[in-house]
Amino acid sequence: IRLLTPPSMFCAGTEIFFVVVSYPKFASNMSAANRSQPIKLNRPVVGKARKLKDLMLKSDNRVCADCSAPDPKWASSNIGVFLCLKCGDVHRALGQDISNVLSLTLDDWSDSDIDSMIEVGGNSYANSIYEAFLPKDHPKPKPDSPMEYRTKFIRW
Ligand SMILES: [Zn+2]
Repeated sequence: IRLLTPPSMFCAGTEIFFVVVSYPKFASNMSAANRSQPIKLNRPVVGKARKLKDLMLKSDNRVCADCSAPDPKWASSNIGVFLCLKCGDVHRALGQDISNVLSLTLDDWSDSDIDSMIEVGGNSYANSIYEAFLPKDHPKPKPDSPMEYRTKFIRW
């Protein structure tokens, strides 16, 4: 996922579209009503949490959206991707209004967090949008890529 790409001739439309649609989602994530009944994913899984578990089990979501490290334990609920710890750290450093990073096992997930993950559908769809115009000289990081490269890719 490339989050801070400056608008260019080819991807300006996509980037602007995502900024516009993600902001209202973020705002609703923060409302008191939606935060009042958090769902712990490590409790018995029912309802929406069940749907999120099912999403986690899809093959494209069993690896980090950015570096393909196996078994991601984090997710960005507004962007709708599953992330490894290292890429999750880079996302978190961008600020919650850009990428709302949550632990799949430790954090409370609100209904709206889960809804926005399910709406995007996970790594394949999100990457098809955010990485539609990936430049050839800027390949995706690998699980063992240094933090500098990972950060450069995600913030690029
Ligand atoms: Zn990663």
